[in-house]
Amino acid sequence: MHIIALAEQLSLAISNVSLRDTLRHQSTVDPLTGLYNRRFFDESLKRELARTQRSQSVCSVVMIDLDHFKRVNDTYGHDGGDLVLTAASHAIQQRVRASDVVCRYGGEELVLMLPECSAEEAERCAETIRSSLNDIVIQHAGQTISGISASFGVAQWPGHGNGERELLSAADRALYAAKKGGRNKVMLAEAFVPVQ
Ligand code: GH3
Ligand code: MG
Ligand code: MG
Repeated sequence: MHIIALAEQLSLAISNVSLRDTLRHQSTVDPLTGLYNRRFFDESLKRELARTQRSQSVCSVVMIDLDHFKRVNDTYGHDGGDLVLTAASHAIQQRVRASDVVCRYGGEELVLMLPECSAEEAERCAETIRSSLNDIVIQHAGQTISGISASFGVAQWPGHGNGERELLSAADRALYAAKKGGRNKVMLAEAFVPVQ
């Protein structure tokens, strides 16, 4: 093969590889926060629960919903809201392990997958995150945004639900209880009672 033709083939192959990497990144990551998206999370949780079962370990999930986020948007505009979401995501990512998966599940709702982590440890992790969100101060368009908070629901596998869906529902119910209980709170899921 002519040396120029070979070089062209090579360069095409290289750009295909980087295009593939870019597409893979775009299909798994949320562009605003840089967190994993729901699709990636759901696939990861399925795989992780299978691994957890095989190794007879535990795995926890934490559902997070920013409190009164509509009010943040109404007060500081959508850009201000976006900044709060990004700052909260960053604060969370700094307080989890490299092997944990932090995901933007949708809107202002995030979810964590904490492999080899008991509900007790997950509660402690959520508590650290909860308190760190309260400390965020953002300067935006001449205004100071602070007083950010979120509500948290923690659930462990096994114990709080059989499959991924049930586990996430258990965490969601605990999150709802945290909202009802006054927000800016971490709540643990109720024990799973199998239907006889
Ligand atoms: P609660 O404490 O009960 O969770 O109240 P809330 O206001 O956070 O809940 P609600 O579901 O009423 O409002 C969620 C808001 O989140 C409304 C929506 O416009 C806003 N939101 C969702 N995604 C984004 C986003 O990407 N950027 C911004 N700025 N806002 C978003
Ligand atoms: Mg909310
Ligand atoms: Mg919400």
